[in-house]
Amino acid sequence: MPDTALLYDRVKTFIPPMEWGVFADDIAAIQELKRQRNAVLLAHNYQTPEIFHCVADITGDSLALAREAQRTEAAVIVLAGVHFMAETAKLLNPEKTVLIPDLRAGCSLAESITAGDVRLMRQRYPGRPVITYVNTSAAVKAESDICCTSGNAKKVVESLGVPEVIMLPDEYLAQNVAKETNVKIIAWKGHCEVHERFTAAEIRELRASHPGVVVLAHPECPPDVVAEADFAGSTAAMSDYVAARRPRRVVLMTECSMSDNVALQHPTTEFVRPCNLCPHMKRITLPKIREALETMQHEVTIDPALAARARRAVERMLAVR
Ligand code: SF4
Repeated sequence: MPDTALLYDRVKTFIPPMEWGVFADDIAAIQELKRQRNAVLLAHNYQTPEIFHCVADITGDSLALAREAQRTEAAVIVLAGVHFMAETAKLLNPEKTVLIPDLRAGCSLAESITAGDVRLMRQRYPGRPVITYVNTSAAVKAESDICCTSGNAKKVVESLGVPEVIMLPDEYLAQNVAKETNVKIIAWKGHCEVHERFTAAEIRELRASHPGVVVLAHPECPPDVVAEADFAGSTAAMSDYVAARRPRRVVLMTECSMSDNVALQHPTTEFVRPCNLCPHMKRITLPKIREALETMQHEVTIDPALAARARRAVERMLAVR
């Protein structure tokens, strides 16, 4: 079994030694299983620190994970994130085995829309290209012209060179992007159950109780929350902001574990932490990752014809620079 002492160094300011005792056995086993299976572990920024800092090979937001999934030479990809992320990894790596440690790790945005809904939107607004946020099923992506993430949404919208687009399913992301572009955006009524809970009043209270705090908001937050923030961007953009500006005190209006992960990398910054957890992301745990590698469960499969159409939309997004 690999020695986990060096890994503990990365998280020792966040995880007390007693708690580490619970994690260490699974962490050592996962490292060994990855080697035996020729597997790579991709972890989203919302995964807990013992996963993000101690067993993940590649970390990042949806866009980074999609790009890295395409580059990996491993035979097996384990996705520590939610189901649509594992599907995206499979779309880009059809010949590889892609595993998700818990099949129930879903997403309120992905569940807000079906392929049939996209076809109805096309009928209702003929001629408008359909841009689909990556937080959707492969079946929805297959009905789309191009995908986007919160990190590249504006670029994707403007890359199409048309006056009006349909952008699905996150209403708030669509509204926030619409404020930054002259392209007219037709939205859907989907929301992220984590980000929709933040309010502008909460930001004002945080500013009053934590003087000088810099507020960074995710664009899945309602537009009045984004307007009240000092900066809005994807999880990668928030992380970059903290690394570049080193604010003395910061609050990230996004999923709770993101602050924990970024705080470990920036010990001189004080993180104020209103805690909104994503219940879907939290279904992924060390024991489940270990079990996934031991049993090679749960494999993500996509009908090849549907996958080809969905892949086109993802690859078209990845080509936008
Ligand atoms: S944080 Fe929101 S968008 Fe991300 S997986 Fe959870 S519900 Fe979906």
